[in-house]
Amino acid sequence: MLSTLLLPRYVSKLHNREIDDMAFIRDYAAKPACEFSAELRQACDDYRYFIRHILKPVRDDLQAKVRQNTVTLHAAFGGNLIAAHSVDYLLAVRNAAGISGDRKDLIVTFDEKFVVAGAYIRNRKMELIDAINNGLKHIRLRPKQYREIIERYGQISARSLNEHDGRIMCHLAQYRFDYCRVVLMPALTALSSWEFHADGDVLDFAKGDLDVAANHTSLDVYDPSDPSTAIDQMIELCASPCANCQEGPDDCDCAEYVFAGEQGQYEPLHAASPGELDALLALISPSYRTS
Ligand SMILES: [Zn+2]
Repeated sequence: MLSTLLLPRYVSKLHNREIDDMAFIRDYAAKPACEFSAELRQACDDYRYFIRHILKPVRDDLQAKVRQNTVTLHAAFGGNLIAAHSVDYLLAVRNAAGISGDRKDLIVTFDEKFVVAGAYIRNRKMELIDAINNGLKHIRLRPKQYREIIERYGQISARSLNEHDGRIMCHLAQYRFDYCRVVLMPALTALSSWEFHADGDVLDFAKGDLDVAANHTSLDVYDPSDPSTAIDQMIELCASPCANCQEGPDDCDCAEYVFAGEQGQYEPLHAASPGELDALLALISPSYRTS
């Protein structure tokens, strides 16, 4: 009944990287073994190398700087470039496995496939990461190639990101927000919180088949049937990180940001339904009654 209260603990662990590098167990039925060509094995091995030696170190360096508000502009562009290149590595695996679709197709479905978190820029984070990378690479986005992006964000260039007090602010038409917290870190985290032991794991990930949500039960979370944990659950619920910037309620600056011309706000990652809240309050205080 209180299952949604368990997720903040999971997310907290994820952000603290306590569950990083663990082998995830998938809960779907075993699939028939597929034939791995030499090309597919190479592509899987290339991605494993990329994630282990490049993506994870970049994520860790950037995460430390984000936490301390010491991010530099060049570090953000470097992390952004690596995040954008992850598309090419995953596309190589997909192509070698005979999965149809080009790079553009993968970018527009990327966030959903790889469960990139975040309330704002929903399902458009990798699209923006790619556009920021190309804005830097080509000095300005090519209008014919990026017509839809330019219509949404305006022209994008190296000047679209700005260093301000150790944060990297993204300044676009109708948008102003902390680029690392809102866009880049959620993408890097979604891409790198895995340990692939076999080519089949890489292929499942590249297909978008690994299910993050299915792994909650393997974690050390509260026992919903244990009333003694009710206060802990309530405290954790009240301190839920912001779904947008991953900061706690006291540190979230989303109200200072602008998304599509609208003021942002703190959005708890998980809020209890009225029924769940009543059940929790009744456990904390047996005299609690709803009218
Ligand atoms: Zn926030």
